[in-house]
Order: sequence, then C-alpha cells, then structure tokens
Amino acid sequence: MFRGLWTTFKSMFEKPVTVAYPEQKRPVRERFKGRHVLKRYDNGLEKCIGCALCAAACPSDAIFVEASENTDEQRYSPGERYASTYEINMLRCIYCGFCEDACPTEAIVLGDNYELSFTGRNQAIYDKNMLLEPVPSGGLPTPQVTEPGRFTRSVPEMKDPVD
Ligand code: SF4
Ligand code: SF4
Repeated sequence: MFRGLWTTFKSMFEKPVTVAYPEQKRPVRERFKGRHVLKRYDNGLEKCIGCALCAAACPSDAIFVEASENTDEQRYSPGERYASTYEINMLRCIYCGFCEDACPTEAIVLGDNYELSFTGRNQAIYDKNMLLEPVPSGGLPTPQVTEPGRFTRSVPEMKDPVD
C-alpha cells in the first residue's frame, strides 16, 4: 500500500505530460500529414493545373476536380487549364498522401493543421477557397491578367513561371 501511495506522491512533483489544449499546442512531427493546402507560386498564380491526377490516385475517392481553360485576361495558373472546382471530402480522406505524391506541380500538400471538426457532413467538404493558401507578399490574387503567350508552356517547364 505504501509503495502505491509513494508512486502517487512522487508523480505530484513530476512535470505533467499533458498540455492545456487548445490554448497550448504541441508541434507536429516533421512528416505529419494534416489538412491539405493548395499552393501558389511566388507571383500568386495557383500551382494546380486541374489535371485530376490527385483524384485518380486517391484510394478513398475523396477528391473532386473540375478544370477550366485559362486565358491571358483571366489566368489562374500557368499552362492551359486550372481547377475551377476543387473539393476534398475530409470524412473520406485517410491522410495517406497519395494525392501529394501524384501531383505533377506540387500543388497539393498535406500540411500541419489537424484541427478538423464539423457539426454537419456538408462542412466536411473543403472547397478551393478553403484549401488555397493566401497570396504571398509581392504576389497578386487570381485571376491575373498576363502577357499574351507567356504561360502557355508545357508542364515540366513550369517549375518557376516567375522567372
Ligand atoms: S490524403 Fe489520401 S485519402 Fe486523403 S485526399 Fe489525398 S489521396 Fe485521398
Ligand atoms: S492538385 Fe495537382 S494533381 Fe491535383 S488537379 Fe491540381 S495539379 Fe493535378
């Protein structure tokens, strides 16, 4: 009995292993796969070209992509097309990262946000506005007006369309 009491008494002076969430948050591991983010280039153009390879790679059928044509007057991404609709059903997602691996432009990235809570099934469907990262400083929001012919190169050449 004394040994048991001693263990309890000792633990009163040990550093707590819990944290006061949500005021205090633990940093996630380097390879943590959290909520998806759609990335932009430094100039603000969206990296997603609406190819839907992420949707094809998804084992849970959680991604829906609809592509539309870019024009020089209304440009969202380099190249011919952009994702006019991009949705992820977070209730289906198993956070495997296959979408990230399949993406040819590194547009979709599983970030470090793990705070996903909903009060309705509809709220679990994250659309493009919710997924797209903010415009970087020095960049412009999309759609942009661009110089004719500047961004109609093929995908492998589009690594840095700002240059
Ligand atoms: S992380 Fe996996 S399950 Fe989730 S959307 Fe991407 S491919 Fe689908
Ligand atoms: S996120 Fe990547 S793979 Fe998915 S549609 Fe956009 S460019 Fe294609």
